[in-house]
Amino acid sequence: MTLMIPFDNSYALLPGVFYSKQAPVPVRAPRLIAFNADLAAVMGIAPGDVQEMAQVFAGNEVPEGADPLAQLYAGHQFGHYNPKLGDGRAVLLGETVGADGLRRDLQLKGSGRTPYSRQGDGRAWLGPVLREYVVSEAMHALGIATTRALAAVETGETVLREAPLPGAVLARVASSHLRVGTFQIFAARGEMGNLKRLTDYAIARHYPHAKGPMGLLRAVRDAQVKLIAQWMGVGFIHGVMNTDNSSISGETIDYGPCAFMDGYHPNTVYSSIDRMGRYAYSNQPDIAVWNMAQLATSLIQQMPDREAAVEEATEVVHAMPDLLQKAWLEQFRRKLGLTGAHDGDAELIADLLQRMAQNQADFTNTFRALGRPEGRDQFIDPAAYDVWLAKWQGRAESEANPLVVITDTNPAFIPRNHRVEQMIQAALVGDYVLFRRLQSVLATPFADQPDHADLQSPPDESEVVQATFCGT
Ligand code: AMP
Ligand code: MG
Repeated sequence: MTLMIPFDNSYALLPGVFYSKQAPVPVRAPRLIAFNADLAAVMGIAPGDVQEMAQVFAGNEVPEGADPLAQLYAGHQFGHYNPKLGDGRAVLLGETVGADGLRRDLQLKGSGRTPYSRQGDGRAWLGPVLREYVVSEAMHALGIATTRALAAVETGETVLREAPLPGAVLARVASSHLRVGTFQIFAARGEMGNLKRLTDYAIARHYPHAKGPMGLLRAVRDAQVKLIAQWMGVGFIHGVMNTDNSSISGETIDYGPCAFMDGYHPNTVYSSIDRMGRYAYSNQPDIAVWNMAQLATSLIQQMPDREAAVEEATEVVHAMPDLLQKAWLEQFRRKLGLTGAHDGDAELIADLLQRMAQNQADFTNTFRALGRPEGRDQFIDPAAYDVWLAKWQGRAESEANPLVVITDTNPAFIPRNHRVEQMIQAALVGDYVLFRRLQSVLATPFADQPDHADLQSPPDESEVVQATFCGT
């Protein structure tokens, strides 16, 4: 073995009620399709040869020091409490502590059945694995907290979805896989000792300065505020903001039917399973508050003075909409190239967004071109932009370098949904060219890359992706 992963596991040292020890289920013919050497280096992982890495990241060989387990959690799915979820198709191999001092989980997703699989097969197909690989790495390059992709492997096996499809495994890296739902399960069961143990673990791992359960709640809330404001800033729609997909570390986690918006509209939904639009673009801040209310409800169970705890938790959660609004305003002010805060900024932003919605203006390209005449090309009625631009110019006079701020804040490249779909379709016939090209272009999303201008265009009529399927 030349592949060396310096495991340093902590979750496996918690009592057995938190997980089930579970080895990944071997697959027939693993083939490595991607390996993230930069991330490996940060984690202190010494790469091995291609065969060896295919075996390990497919789960056929458990590397030395790994202590594989499936984590237990519960969660609200579309508002309904499911008392038992857990890793149904993933195992945590273990953790590493990188040269940067950060502890990270290494998980195999699509690694076979576990005690929490319910009716599922424990597997993933190639499409969602490639989507998560590209979109999570793009998110990281955009400067947004996210789980990351260390490797992807084709299994050489077929998984049955709406049709037989090639199976794949994603080696996923996260600051941890603690979710709101991890707390919910022990609170709902009334297991106070376990809840307290988990709270202490989360504080030590993520927020060592936080004091007690309410300190943790505050810290998670602040991390979620920052995250959601950043999602809004890049037009990202998570699609399944269930409490089991809401991370304690404040990272974007569980890329399912997610997408970046093309034409701006606040009610945009892509997920085929979100028929009521619960997780629509503009609902995301409210849903994040709702999720934090669930965390608060769980955390207070362990507080001896329940009345005081309810009061404090209520204050923490009730402050969140204002914090979100403030973070959103800061985010969009910068998107407009504005660094100072002036009265009327919120109205200037709202005015632009309204004009964009009325004109089906492309979210990414409009902001990227802002302040320049080209911006008008994004509008059905270019005069709508001209009127707004005149107002903006008045406001931007007090700014030193608004156009530089605009270019630094608004990406030129996002993983557009139709390109992600094209990438998946190509990979299904063995063509990984677009997969590699997207990875390379999206690694520097704020740079102009004239050779890749085609990746900046919104879909033409034939390319529009109407719905993104959970398709796990
Ligand atoms: P997700 O939609 O990825 O957030 O998953 C929700 C729950 O369903 C989690 O408990 C997953 O582990 C489980 N799950 C999703 N897909 C599968 C599958 N193919 N086999 C077993 N469990 C699954
Ligand atoms: Mg999930």
